[in-house]
Amino acid sequence: MRLQKYLAHAGVASRRAAEELIVAGKVRVNGKIVRELGTSVDEDASVKVDGKNVALPKTHTYIVLNKPFGVVTTMRDPEGRRTVSELLPKGLPRVVPVGRLDYDTAGVLLLTNDGELAHVLTHPRFGVEKTYRAVVKGQLSKDEIERLQRGMRLEDFRASGARVKVVASPADRTVLDITIHEGRNRQVRRMLEAVGHPVRELRRLQFGPIALGTLPAGRSRPATARELARLRELLR
Ligand code: URA
Repeated sequence: MRLQKYLAHAGVASRRAAEELIVAGKVRVNGKIVRELGTSVDEDASVKVDGKNVALPKTHTYIVLNKPFGVVTTMRDPEGRRTVSELLPKGLPRVVPVGRLDYDTAGVLLLTNDGELAHVLTHPRFGVEKTYRAVVKGQLSKDEIERLQRGMRLEDFRASGARVKVVASPADRTVLDITIHEGRNRQVRRMLEAVGHPVRELRRLQFGPIALGTLPAGRSRPATARELARLRELLR
């Protein structure tokens, strides 16, 4: 990037004023004064103006993937199974999944290199809502739905109450949307198993403000500015 553009991006001055700073010998790149306009600088160069460090604002990448069934939520799998990294566009900065979907769960997965956001989003304290469409064995009774809504003790923690909406109940199955806050290991499967209805199919429809929408399985898209703003609002 040209030095005057770098300075403008770093918020030091307008491009015009940055040119004046350069010509006046106030700018050092990697320790050396640079007076030549148009000098190229690497994004990770050390740049000082009047002896003070300046830096480009960090830009992060946020990708929404519709994870298919039969794919592991890691970037590399020692067992050689298909991973989410194989589904991302080439040339992306290194991103990591925010939380995890099981190998046999499909749906919306956020990936980012914004470590801070990833950390808070996966912290149970923040309780970002996640909605799953589950197909379960059998018909759910009113009582069973109420148990899910009240929350329950699972082996290793107490799952707080879920929001439950029955979408359809053909003969021997029920299709329901279940919204949870914690996102512990296999939580939805374990909750539904606990009320006697093993999951046949599980797909995440929503992760906080990020909806799966019509994104085809195996495809990804950048998260929108609106989705990111709403995610950050949740964390305030
Ligand atoms: N709950 C589950 O049981 N599995 C998932 O992949 C996510 C939530």
